[in-house]
Amino acid sequence: MQKKSLISLAGIILAVSSCTHLSSVQKSDGKTTSSVTRDGKFEVIPFLGNFTVKRATFPNGLKLMILKDPSSPTFAYQTWFKVGSRNEVVGKTGLAHLFEHLMFKGTTHHPEGEFDALLEQAGAEDENAFTSNDHTVYVQELPKDSFNLISGLESDRMVNLIVNDASFKTEREVVQNERRFRKENSAEGTIYQTLFETAFTEHPYHWPVIGYEQDLTLMSAQDARDFYERYYSPDRATIVVVGDVDEDRIYRKIETLYGGIPGKRTLDAEIKSDSEQTAQRRKRLELNTEVEKIWLAFKVPALNSPDSPVFESIQGLLSEGKNGRLNRALVDSGIATEVGSGSLSLRDPGLFLIEVDLQKGKSALLAESVIMRELERLKNNPVKPEELQRASNVMRFKFLERLVTAKGRAHLIGQLETGYGNLETGLEFQKKVYEVTPDQIQQAAQKYFDTSKLTVIVAVPKPKKAEKGAQ
Ligand SMILES: [Zn+2]
Repeated sequence: MQKKSLISLAGIILAVSSCTHLSSVQKSDGKTTSSVTRDGKFEVIPFLGNFTVKRATFPNGLKLMILKDPSSPTFAYQTWFKVGSRNEVVGKTGLAHLFEHLMFKGTTHHPEGEFDALLEQAGAEDENAFTSNDHTVYVQELPKDSFNLISGLESDRMVNLIVNDASFKTEREVVQNERRFRKENSAEGTIYQTLFETAFTEHPYHWPVIGYEQDLTLMSAQDARDFYERYYSPDRATIVVVGDVDEDRIYRKIETLYGGIPGKRTLDAEIKSDSEQTAQRRKRLELNTEVEKIWLAFKVPALNSPDSPVFESIQGLLSEGKNGRLNRALVDSGIATEVGSGSLSLRDPGLFLIEVDLQKGKSALLAESVIMRELERLKNNPVKPEELQRASNVMRFKFLERLVTAKGRAHLIGQLETGYGNLETGLEFQKKVYEVTPDQIQQAAQKYFDTSKLTVIVAVPKPKKAEKGAQ
């Protein structure tokens, strides 16, 4: 998604426009493809340029992905857990994200505060974590001689975390404040939440990743311990290491540290799905905003659907670069200040979003009519190849930008491996973004931009209250 306002909504992985020009990956059946070779304990997967990624899967289900890149004496270390707000249940919303906070508390080996102190002492940068609808990810970047430290700390907190009432209550308060800041006091946060609540009625994407205030208030340390017990397990984890590292040494270290942690192989809690949307849904909000805003969302298939690469091309056509169709029709024409679009890369069927900030005095309904006109154009007229090429080039550049840092590469590897089931299938999908044809765009627009599957949220400035006399 292009707009900063969207990206800043922590806890949500937004439409990541990732595409690559790898050409050797064959159609995958979910197992290894012909371009994947074996090197002892590793599967070797062609990545970008001359890079390869080595993958090992341990008997307890833990996956290890390594991209060796000696260009800088550092490495990124990320742990991707297949658990997010999607795994929560009604009444316990926000638990996955609250739990992410608790992971920085003490363990049986390291009292509270030591995790951060040791990493800071080692010169760690960007120590962070985030929770999305589908995943929870712990992110570190360190000098190359700190591998033993981080792998020791991460393996320890996968299994030895202590969640007591005191640490639970402190962190819940932190999360409640975060919630106020991100949702209640933010127009974008409120619109985003309302959009998902309106578009999804049964599926867990209905509720915000950060959860509801009431659920957080009623939650207990025992809920967090149960969540840890159920979902934090090697078979739900993928460790991604990118940087100046020795692959065999890393393998041995990870095997020593994590090998003895049993894989629990627990199933997801039952995840309800929505029945098909058959009528347009609309909401109007009065918010603390100076200008009107409008967000539109159409239902789109899950990340691993054959149609999903098309939406990246559509994003490029509509809102990437100065020549994006909506940028020209809305921003250049003086109706809007900013336009963004994109489909969320979600494990279950998700949304294609279009969001617009209007110029002062311009109405959201005007923007909506322009958007609908542009979508009709996509449905009725094939896109010219040169225009599609432009969109493709813009998306490619955005993708390449993500690969500049070790952290960016690790993020991409983690996202593709966990999102698509394996990296090679993810890369194959990314490659397809470049092969999208004008026909496919037209067919997808006709199929998915159906106004009976549309959700619209309009936000207008809250009327100013009449000033009260001085007390
Ligand atoms: Zn947080």
